[in-house]
Amino acid sequence: MSSTRLPLPERTRSACCYTSALDAGEAFCSECGKALVRCMASEECGGLLDDHGLCTVCVAPYLQVDAGALKTARVGGAVTLPLSLANLSSVGRPLFVTGLWSREAMGPWREEHLGWERLEAGETRPIPVVAREIERAGAHGLQVMVAMASRWRWRQENFAFIGNLTLMVEDPSSETGPVVNIGGESAGHGNMVYISGKAGRDTGPQQTDQAMRLAMVRAEREERRLGLRGIDADTWVPRDAELCWTGFGEGDAPFDGPILAPDGVLAAGRSRTRRQGGDGDLRLLVTAPDGTLDEALSRLISRRHMEFYIESDRLVLRVTGGGGLRVNGEAYGEGKAIRLSGNDVISPLVAAPDSLSLKVSFRTEHGRVGRIVFQRAGSAR
Ligand SMILES: [Zn+2]
Ligand SMILES: [Zn+2]
Repeated sequence: MSSTRLPLPERTRSACCYTSALDAGEAFCSECGKALVRCMASEECGGLLDDHGLCTVCVAPYLQVDAGALKTARVGGAVTLPLSLANLSSVGRPLFVTGLWSREAMGPWREEHLGWERLEAGETRPIPVVAREIERAGAHGLQVMVAMASRWRWRQENFAFIGNLTLMVEDPSSETGPVVNIGGESAGHGNMVYISGKAGRDTGPQQTDQAMRLAMVRAEREERRLGLRGIDADTWVPRDAELCWTGFGEGDAPFDGPILAPDGVLAAGRSRTRRQGGDGDLRLLVTAPDGTLDEALSRLISRRHMEFYIESDRLVLRVTGGGGLRVNGEAYGEGKAIRLSGNDVISPLVAAPDSLSLKVSFRTEHGRVGRIVFQRAGSAR
């Protein structure tokens, strides 16, 4: 983009938290004590997440009505609006644009078709949005919704944003069809696009060299409705959900609380935990009924057998051990990622599922899963 007035990524946390986050080993802000919930790509972006799981360093879309008016398509009462989407990520992270919709007033969403997906950092690409049903004079509200994803290794965070603008339609009795004039200023007056019925008649500025920014707001409800985030339309697991561990031996489980590892991943397996001087977070060993260690079965558990992380407002289990595992009795092999729901039972040993299991339960308030309890059970026979 040629403009030099593009905004910097919005800061969504206090300055003290960004300063503390510079030390990758810090889990809490040394000044205000808040948990430092980091972006999945924090080793590259250093970003902290806002309350809705967004890293504004990685995901910084910018929507505008392009400069240069009269870019019109005269198809009945429809007008193609010259919009474009830019990626302002300051760390070079591409955005993957996975969907585009528009609607007039609060009518049904119409999907628009894009012939591309990847938007590099610093790049701007046009997105065609068609406003229909504009024969009637007066103000017409138009909403544009863009779905996009940010990727890091095998992980992906999905988001949807909505931009609003108002179309002003004059002279509905026109024979030549509507003409779009971009005459509005975004500051203070809302976003206005003027439509005049007489092509060629000078009813205002016919060309403008000023692009108009459309503020984009997160659309959490639409994200869940579209299946982009959350467990279902009404339930989601925020990145700062508290994980609680019951039935584990001393030091075998992390302290209860949100996942605060720099990459947001919690590792479970045979390795000793960090609390025990190892490199794991959750230690999985099989015990005999008398409480002693069952070495033969425990050896079947990989040092890093599986990982837990929260992605797109879902709790995900990823299989990293060669022997695989079972969830609710079904076997999954190495590399598989499984979305977990309340009451799921994880059995780390495929061949001896009852010897060790973790039952997952969710504590939910108004759709928000604030607490996830892992209950360890089982012993070798
Ligand atoms: Zn702080
Ligand atoms: Zn980030």
